[in-house]
Amino acid sequence: MRGGSTNQSERQRLHGRGARGSRSAAETGGRTRFVVDAMLGSLARKLRAFGFDAAYYKAGDDGGLLRLSLSEGRIILTADRSLAARADSQGIRAIIPVGNSDRERLGSLSRGATAIGVSLVRGDPLCSLCGGELQAVKGSEISGKVPSSVRRRHLLFFQCASCGHIYWRGSHWKRLMSLARRLDQK
Ligand SMILES: [Zn+2]
Repeated sequence: MRGGSTNQSERQRLHGRGARGSRSAAETGGRTRFVVDAMLGSLARKLRAFGFDAAYYKAGDDGGLLRLSLSEGRIILTADRSLAARADSQGIRAIIPVGNSDRERLGSLSRGATAIGVSLVRGDPLCSLCGGELQAVKGSEISGKVPSSVRRRHLLFFQCASCGHIYWRGSHWKRLMSLARRLDQK
């Protein structure tokens, strides 16, 4: 396990929630799971950054998406009303996030979850690209992998355990946090 007490307190500040206890809850499947249909890919990436387990269903038919939802306990996010109706008829939870931007869709998702009696539970942020777990790494460990100007300005970095992508809390992070407030509003 990388990272000491500093990283842990950073994590708590990042997510505004409890310490190790809730992390282990997340690791045992505590986070809300979604499967996002092909039209909403950018929403899937944001949901992972917020700590939701969001699978992106890029290719395949509706039947496959419904089976995946059922077998893995994932809430379907789709813009397709007929698919949502089909899910509903099989007792599968589906939400149609409405809006013209992810900002609007997140607000809509939050209201939709309330409407079907689901409380949205986040875990630690996951890799936006692949959904892998992020590990805290020191700047010295990623020498040469991020621009030196970025290394000078940041102390804390996170690396995806699956794809190796490196994250830091720059302006993109601030935009995400502003979106997160949208998600939390009821
Ligand atoms: Zn990754």
